[in-house]
Amino acid sequence: MNNLNAITNYLQTEKVSLCALPTPLLYLPGLSRIWQRDIFCKRDDLSGPAFGGNKNRKLEYLLHDAQKKEADTIITSGSVQSNHCRQTAGLAAMLGLECHLLLGGAVPNQSQANLLLDLLFGATIHWTGKQRKGETEKALLQKLIDAGKRPYLVPYGGSNGRGALGYTSAFLELQGQFRSQKIFPGSIVLASSSGATYAGLLAGKLVTGDTIEIFGIEIDPDQKSDDQTRHIHSLISETLSLLGVSTKVDSGNPPPVHLYGELKEAGYAVVTEEEKQVILQTARADALLLDPVYTARAMLGLHRLLTKKLLPEGPVLFWHTGGQPALFDQNLFSISPPG
Ligand SMILES: *Cc1c(COP(=O)(O)O)cnc(C)c1O
Repeated sequence: MNNLNAITNYLQTEKVSLCALPTPLLYLPGLSRIWQRDIFCKRDDLSGPAFGGNKNRKLEYLLHDAQKKEADTIITSGSVQSNHCRQTAGLAAMLGLECHLLLGGAVPNQSQANLLLDLLFGATIHWTGKQRKGETEKALLQKLIDAGKRPYLVPYGGSNGRGALGYTSAFLELQGQFRSQKIFPGSIVLASSSGATYAGLLAGKLVTGDTIEIFGIEIDPDQKSDDQTRHIHSLISETLSLLGVSTKVDSGNPPPVHLYGELKEAGYAVVTEEEKQVILQTARADALLLDPVYTARAMLGLHRLLTKKLLPEGPVLFWHTGGQPALFDQNLFSISPPG
């Protein structure tokens, strides 16, 4: 038997409160009119410090664990324009923790957008070339230990069972907002990459017995959909075991994971013309800013699912996971000045 009170209590106590929660739940009148379906938006781009975004919620749990283990230094990894690294650098600074970032991709000529913010937050950068998912983190960990530090490793994307707790908690928060605003969406659509956002939400659905369907729009072609489903199942079992819930996720009857993978084939951090059009459309319809790597693809995915009639009846909840600083990286997004 799940004890929801015990779960809620664990979710409230095993974190360090740094975010601006609950995040707003807003109706999108413009897109709803154009696409002829009621669309609501969960604004996790407004989750508080460091320009917000979905990693903030995971970091409340991960950095609490780091503090419990008396760490003084945080290590994490990502691409040059990683939102996760920017939020980790910001939240680590708030707690007085040193932050080391392993950043892959090509070293840019200028510090733009997320990289500029990493430097503003005082992070130390280690360039890792083609490797952007923490492949060399163990070596850095050892180096920092040898230098007398107490480092804590935050996984790529903040995605482990503990990070996912942030989104189990977010699911409960959303249910409360649905009840108080008396709206009843049939589906949630969000960008999914390292997986803990999706896994945390699905864990929330499982522990509450909710029937809403959750659709993940895949972003990164390095991640094959089958592996991704297995990965999400394993994150969920980790999360549920932290919550003291015994369910059979690995064996027997794993919960369905709805992933839509068509759009990721364009490449990671490659902005297609259609994605650019969705950024313009959403900005002009609702003054809602999407980011060029994740949420533009996710919103385009929502539209595809709508046109293919793959979404259940009722309003749709688009989960905005943040990332807008990347709009200010000219390599990712630009509009030529009118001549
Ligand atoms: C990291 C990120 C995601 C993906 O979340 P995962 O938990 O890694 O699947 C989506 N949107 C934005 C803006 C992100 O930075």
